[in-house]
Amino acid sequence: MTDSQRLQRLRDAGYKITHARQTVLEALERGGGHMTSAQVLDAVATLDPAIGRASVFRTLDMLSRLSLIRPTFVESSGTPVFVLLPNGHHHHVVCTGCGAVIEFDDCGLDALATQLEASTGIHIIGHLLEFYGLCANCRAA
Ligand SMILES: [Zn+2]
Ligand SMILES: [Zn+2]
Ligand SMILES: [Zn+2]
Repeated sequence: MTDSQRLQRLRDAGYKITHARQTVLEALERGGGHMTSAQVLDAVATLDPAIGRASVFRTLDMLSRLSLIRPTFVESSGTPVFVLLPNGHHHHVVCTGCGAVIEFDDCGLDALATQLEASTGIHIIGHLLEFYGLCANCRAA
């Protein structure tokens, strides 16, 4: 999903494209798609120090509700990491020993999404998928 597609999603949902919202999205994009709220605050402050903490947090909430980002808790102790959902999905294989995170693109879950949509009545617009395990180094340790 491109930046402009994300902004279009905001517009479609009835949100105005404010400078603050655009800047938070840009910060997430530059951060490579994974950031804690503290990292987002820092990055936004670098891009535009005039944007307040409260509006950054409100924007993160709003982007989460729109499923443009999702909070995930794997990478650190209790601090959510917000991940972008490019094309509506985002996938990790996580080593629970050392915290290594490997990204992958193809999940092959389109059929499952369609089936879940039919059985739950929820119009599905994205997913975050994480597999957990131990990497070779951690198994050897
Ligand atoms: Zn490991
Ligand atoms: Zn990721
Ligand atoms: Zn997927």
